[in-house]
This record gives sequence, C-alpha cells and structure tokens, in this order.
Amino acid sequence: MKVSHAQFAAAYSFKQSEPSMKSVRKNSEFYVKSSKLADKELFASYVVKRRNLNYDSWSDYVKVVESCYYVKHSEAFKETLYCSCPVGSKKFACKHVVSVACKLKYLEYPPSIDSIQIQGPRSPGRQRGAKRGHALSRL
Ligand SMILES: [Zn+2]
Repeated sequence: MKVSHAQFAAAYSFKQSEPSMKSVRKNSEFYVKSSKLADKELFASYVVKRRNLNYDSWSDYVKVVESCYYVKHSEAFKETLYCSCPVGSKKFACKHVVSVACKLKYLEYPPSIDSIQIQGPRSPGRQRGAKRGHALSRL
C-alpha cells in the first residue's frame, strides 16, 4: 500500500484526536466513530447494531453506516485493510486504515511526522512580498 506523506499526516492528526475505536476478534476488525457523531454511548450501540446486522429501519441503517465505520482485514491479502468510510470504500488509504495499520505495525509513521506543519493549500497568485521593516536598516 502506497501512503503519501499527507495521508500519514491526516492519520497522525486523527490518532492525536483520540478517536473512539473498538477492536473486536483479536484486532482483526475495528469500529471507528465518525467525527460527525458526537455521542459516545450512541457509538457503542451502533457498533452492536453493525456487528449483529440488526437495524430498526432503512433510515436507521443509513444513520449507523454513516457514523460508525469499520476497518477490516482483506480476506485475500494478509496485512491489507479496508475501511467502510467514503474515502476508504473508493480503495484509497483513508486516515482510519493508515492509523490502524500503524497501530498493528504494518506501517510506521515517518519520523518527521511530529514536526509536520499542517497547513492548507497555498492560495493562488504571487506570494505577498515581505513588509518593509527595520531588519536591514542601519542605525
Ligand atoms: Zn476510513
């Protein structure tokens, strides 16, 4: 699995946010709380629903699936994980997969991850010049 630095950075900041995560079957399956869901007790009940495939209705199912993701091992490939979130289901390495893979030591965060400055994309156009100051003036 090819993981870019930006994906590592996203996974690392995700890990730092101490997300609610529940592992089952000896770390072969993980349930991750989506950031959209604030209630931890609700998350616990959603995990039970997902595991038992027991939903009250279609709208209940949609609500559960959107706010409680799972990270599972691929059956064909050992040490390959996939996630049910919108990014992971497109076969991209989402922050959930990368953080679980690092937790299971399949991957390792690059050593520089702590010092990465997380900044948004640069705005288009020429960068603003430095403001006139006193740094180069003689006293
Ligand atoms: Zn995911």
